[in-house]
Amino acid sequence: MSQFSGFVDEIKGIAVDSFLPDNASSCTAYFLSHCHADHMRGLNEVSFSAHIASKADHFIYCSEVSAQILKNLMRDNESVLAKIQTLTLGPNLVQVPILDSDYQLDLVVTLIPAGHCLGSCMFLFETGEKTILYTGDFRFNPSDYSKISFLHTNGEPRELDAMYLDTTFWTQANQHFPSRHESLNLIITEIDKFRKRTADRGHVHIDKPAKIGSEFLIMELAKRYRKKVHVSSDCFNLYDGIQELTSCITRESGETFLHMCQSYRPGKGRRRLPCVQDYIHVLYIRPSAQWYSVGGEFFPVREHKGINLVQISHSMHSSRAELIAFVKYFKPKKVVPCVVPVNATMEQVQEEIDAVLVDG
Ligand SMILES: [Zn+2]
Ligand SMILES: [Zn+2]
Ligand SMILES: [Zn+2]
Repeated sequence: MSQFSGFVDEIKGIAVDSFLPDNASSCTAYFLSHCHADHMRGLNEVSFSAHIASKADHFIYCSEVSAQILKNLMRDNESVLAKIQTLTLGPNLVQVPILDSDYQLDLVVTLIPAGHCLGSCMFLFETGEKTILYTGDFRFNPSDYSKISFLHTNGEPRELDAMYLDTTFWTQANQHFPSRHESLNLIITEIDKFRKRTADRGHVHIDKPAKIGSEFLIMELAKRYRKKVHVSSDCFNLYDGIQELTSCITRESGETFLHMCQSYRPGKGRRRLPCVQDYIHVLYIRPSAQWYSVGGEFFPVREHKGINLVQISHSMHSSRAELIAFVKYFKPKKVVPCVVPVNATMEQVQEEIDAVLVDG
């Protein structure tokens, strides 16, 4: 959960991922990295809508996909929707009005896909004097860092005056996770085993822990099995207008054996999927960002045979090892943690980050 204040010390007048009254009154340009609730604080409040509606030159900036999700999420909030300006991936020029003056700051804002959820992006802000990276929630494979062209100049990592970092999993307990592709392959292996065991008659229900965030799995599973994924009407409406997803989902449960329709919870004696008429076998897969310990050893997969439940380690945030690699790769002059991890304090995280920066 992001606890970031929204204020970037180096750039006055902008607010990122926070739309609370303090941000609204002292800023003129608002940025949204992705549509998770902890990054949208205040956005749907009457006070923010009224404030932004009254300022002709104040806007909210986000990626095109996030703008579409916002439209679907906040259909009634016309004053906010009217103020959304989409930025394309790569560099954009944003003119930030300076409060109580006729001047504006020319800010170059580069959007970089963050590998977290649909539409999520990082912001690289350049004022001409300062270069700041706000990561938002993100997950990159360290072997891919060098491939992100917008974070390099002449093949060298960009020099950053500050990095505002997603520290959700900066704790020893979250040192490593399987990569997203490793997790996907673990899920596919379980589905294949189950389908074989049930002579291709069993249905698979995959848990969807949040409204937004399972899109990578939906798209990959639909592609792999050439079947759409059954989702609830709410979910279907949320993805309205996003072609890459709408082609992978259905409201018709009869079309598929893949479900994320949230109609089922595993339990003893529970064998039926409410959205399917016939008696069927159900495998319930729960992706979650943890490893499972059995007899002191840690595994990415844990099976509960009696109730056909399989838990699989799957994270949409970077592990601690990945975060350390990211900080060491860019060696920013300063790092601001944006999330207090579970069972840690911001001071501990800051101390550890500073030690990484000193060690190089
Ligand atoms: Zn978050
Ligand atoms: Zn998020
Ligand atoms: Zn279903």
